Amino acid sequence: MPSTTTKKTLAILLAGASLLSAAPSAEEKHISVYSPVAIYTLPVLERAGHDYVGLLELLEPLGRVSSQTDGRRWNLRYNAVDAELVAGKTRARIRGRNFDLPAPFLIENSHGLVPLISLSALLPRFLETSVNFHESARRLFVGEVRIQVGFQLDGSNPLRLALNFSAPVNPTISTEPGKLRMVFKRDAVVSPGSQSISFDNKVITQASYSENNGDAELDVAATQPLMASFSNDRKTIVISVVPQAPATPSAAGSQNPAPASPAANITSGSSRRVLAVVDPAHGGGERGAALTDTLAEKDVTLGFARLLRHELEIRGFAVALLRDADTSSTLDQRAAAANVARAGIYISLHATSQGSGARVYTALLPAEGPSKGAFHAWNAAQSPALPVSRIASAAIVAEMQKREFPVRASSASLRPLNNVFMPAVAVELAPGADGVADLTNANYQQRAASAIADAVVSVRDRLGAQP
Ligand SMILES: [Zn+2]
Repeated sequence: MPSTTTKKTLAILLAGASLLSAAPSAEEKHISVYSPVAIYTLPVLERAGHDYVGLLELLEPLGRVSSQTDGRRWNLRYNAVDAELVAGKTRARIRGRNFDLPAPFLIENSHGLVPLISLSALLPRFLETSVNFHESARRLFVGEVRIQVGFQLDGSNPLRLALNFSAPVNPTISTEPGKLRMVFKRDAVVSPGSQSISFDNKVITQASYSENNGDAELDVAATQPLMASFSNDRKTIVISVVPQAPATPSAAGSQNPAPASPAANITSGSSRRVLAVVDPAHGGGERGAALTDTLAEKDVTLGFARLLRHELEIRGFAVALLRDADTSSTLDQRAAAANVARAGIYISLHATSQGSGARVYTALLPAEGPSKGAFHAWNAAQSPALPVSRIASAAIVAEMQKREFPVRASSASLRPLNNVFMPAVAVELAPGADGVADLTNANYQQRAASAIADAVVSVRDRLGAQP
């Protein structure tokens, strides 16, 4: 529905770089096109049992193109190539020669639609370069753009699996029990040769490749939780095992030594008080996502934040809300406020009407470049704290699963997570069984808030105390 699209776009604009439109909307059919000049996706329409795509829309990013509709006749010019197609007919003329489509050409609102299964034969009539169409996955490669991947397992301690790509990549990375998943939406990654590769290792056991609906996916299976980081200008993804949290010390004056993690400047003891900064995302004129026609994300995040404050306070934390009213501040201001407060943990709260349960995010830091200016430093401020952030994220996931929330952990390059010095997570609350109404349901929010608070308690000894 166009109205939905508009609303969603608006929400993305309002949210700016902050979050979380990373969540793919419903399984809309689309085709991905990879070419040296442009990478794009187009909607795929089902008509009379065939998949169709707009021909002008397909060619537009690749060259100069124009079209003219005259009744049922549709004339297209791409660079110096002329084509004439007729609505309802399979016979077309391209460069003065006949071309037969496997299903009739269609015109809808002056858009000329051609069947997807014709593309392998049709596009070479227009383009002067190789065309390679993965039809069932709807991925179209124009020219030599394919990105190859190789695997390199280093079984020594610490265990590492390096994925080496022939060009920089930018997948969405998420984890779930037993698996780390990388989804490539805009990268022309192709199969490593076989659908799955088994490793002679007890922890990282297998990598598998699949492609579907314009995306490629690489999954790495393991018996322990995994994390991923980029190196080599995003041409390498290094996958390693998440460091395990130490056993929780007993409350009465435990003497456990500080963990090795450089991020955890720990003094152990029962008297320490940790400050948690809770950030209800959006606010003021920046409404966040439109969860319903009348419900703005900014209002859900504020209510949820107040509940979380209560849950943390009764567990012995000092809590600061970055806003306790309908006010706005920039992402930089939010990060600076958390940094100045020397918080032990920073928790950003979002809400969405998409999906169900919750998503927990940690920062995905920018690749380390040769220049390490102030801008890089600001954008990578999270770096030393990231291991503890991941432990906190894993703890939240575990507590939410105990309460039967469907929950996923992801890394994403989202601000201001990467700008804060202390362990930082973002939790995005999604509807439960009762749909969007859950987002304003005090019971539902309460269950989520107590899960987060219990998780923060479980990692308390890894968080810096207030000076
Ligand atoms: Zn948001």
